[in-house]
Amino acid sequence: MNTSIHFRDNNLFPIWDKVQNGQRLTLEDGVTMFRSQDLISIGKMAHAVQQLKSGDAVYYVVNQKIEPTNICVLSCTFCDFAVKQGSANAYEMTIAEILSKLNSDVHEVHITGGLHPDWPWEYYLGMVRDIKKNFPQVDVKAFTAVEIDFFHKKFKMPIDEILRQLYAAGLRTMPGGGAEVFSERIRKLLFNQKIGAKTWFEVHTTAHKLGIPSNATLLYGHIETYEERVMHMVKLRKAQDETHGFLSFIPLAFQPGDTGIKPKNDFTSAIEDLKTIAISRLMLDNFPHIKAYWVMLTEEVASVALNFGADDMDGTVGGEKIAHDAGATSPMTMAKDKLIKIINDAGKIPVERDVYYNALNVNTENVIGKIPYLNSVPFYTHFEKRQFKILPIVPRRMGQLSQKGQIDAGLFSLMDYFAQETSLELMNYCIATRDQVKSVMLFSKEGWQGLNGKKIGIIDDTATSVRLLQVLLEKKYDVKAQFVRMHASVNDHSLYDAVLLIGDEALKANKTGLSGYDLVFDLAKEWYDWKKLPFVFAVWAHKKSLTVEKRSELLEIVQQSLEKGESHLDTIGKVHGQAITLTKHETSEYLEGFNYHLGEREKEAMSIFKKLIEEVEVIS
Ligand code: SF4
Repeated sequence: MNTSIHFRDNNLFPIWDKVQNGQRLTLEDGVTMFRSQDLISIGKMAHAVQQLKSGDAVYYVVNQKIEPTNICVLSCTFCDFAVKQGSANAYEMTIAEILSKLNSDVHEVHITGGLHPDWPWEYYLGMVRDIKKNFPQVDVKAFTAVEIDFFHKKFKMPIDEILRQLYAAGLRTMPGGGAEVFSERIRKLLFNQKIGAKTWFEVHTTAHKLGIPSNATLLYGHIETYEERVMHMVKLRKAQDETHGFLSFIPLAFQPGDTGIKPKNDFTSAIEDLKTIAISRLMLDNFPHIKAYWVMLTEEVASVALNFGADDMDGTVGGEKIAHDAGATSPMTMAKDKLIKIINDAGKIPVERDVYYNALNVNTENVIGKIPYLNSVPFYTHFEKRQFKILPIVPRRMGQLSQKGQIDAGLFSLMDYFAQETSLELMNYCIATRDQVKSVMLFSKEGWQGLNGKKIGIIDDTATSVRLLQVLLEKKYDVKAQFVRMHASVNDHSLYDAVLLIGDEALKANKTGLSGYDLVFDLAKEWYDWKKLPFVFAVWAHKKSLTVEKRSELLEIVQQSLEKGESHLDTIGKVHGQAITLTKHETSEYLEGFNYHLGEREKEAMSIFKKLIEEVEVIS
């Protein structure tokens, strides 16, 4: 990490040491940070971690919050939203009313609401189904663990069956609320009828196993202690180690309203909010994203939080009611242009996303794409950004954004470079193998010949590796298989006869094996044995339209960065490698297995591969 921090609180030194070395923080470390007055140092540590995980990207989504009813069978003490049936301000939305709130710009609908005593199961399924039918571009994020558990009890169906039916209707992810703080003490005091940690985790881990990723929240700033706040994070971190199904963590500042728990105007301070965001980023080392939910934080605090560890602003939200009924003072909706401006003003890249955090659009200039895998570390560890900003993005998505002219330069997947040769100019750098690669692996139940007609699950991120696999199957082995794209969170591979993994996922699975798949093939090794040539997975290129001044600056940066990177291959990937369970030696050995300079043999391999690709059927 290239961050230098002037600590005022010496107690933070050992924590920074751990962070720099990729070591996991303890409960005590978390509490030490909450007790520290050195907010800026905590923020800088979190920002350094954020840079490693998300570069300069800050995500937002064009979304609509829907709360179908405020009628609820429970009466949680902190809730100012719920009412009983027959109350003057009770409301119930029809499906037609819900649909009327959506339009073709929306990418995510976020549904949570009261636990209605009378609505039938078919109403919930119909709601999800009709949204998907009428607005195919919308992904449905719906129902907290409390609601899922309510359905399970009311409709007498197992939790996994409830989730399966919702998934079939169109539900794609789940929000993270419901358990507020994983503390039995607080549950008994504030919401004793509501589910506790055990049920919350059961619902979420079941969803993850079914391929439904979810989010997690923490309601802070009421009666919880610092220990309880940090313990909440530690429990989430443990679950994430097991399922990898959480997308983001959202600290929610408590809105006192008329709950009586705290005086009405006793909001959390900006210092408390920023500290909680920063500590979340530091404690939750295995969560991809930390969200600054502007609805509860206010726009001003949320925008500062983008330099304190948060990399997501949530979205335009529409007419949110739950937090506002409790006294949240933020505007009810935030226009897309305003979100973009806030993110740009914070010096970040506004990235419009979908429900899975796939980048749909980038709304700024001078963006350098970075493939977020270990093998790109030599190019980016010492990358001196100057006027450029870094966007970590998987190969396939980078190609899509580049096609829209939204990426100025970067390490492009070879297939994307081929597809955009007329608009991209090649630089003399690449990621090419010498013989094997170790991170583009086919895990199979069958040998190559046995894969004829079989179904191969392909990790969704890949643009080039899937085509290499196709060429090997069809041109080397004369075998034709069926490819099915899998979402990255899918951890049930049982539907497939073979599975193609790339990047860090492949490296991890290469070490541990993939259950049910006894045969493992390294695609670069297969290529090398066949053609006696390296395989070029990615090449550096920039837009042909880039100004002369920017081109020469970029060339200088990449050259200097790689020089430094190559002279420290034994250490530069240590933290990244550790995060994917590689030892220091395994990491340096892996990095030394690549050639980062585009020479004549690499160019020959590229041209042979291009010809082979032209001879096989186009696949998406
Ligand atoms: S927090 Fe949720 S479950 Fe509790 S009363 Fe409010 S709407 Fe009902």
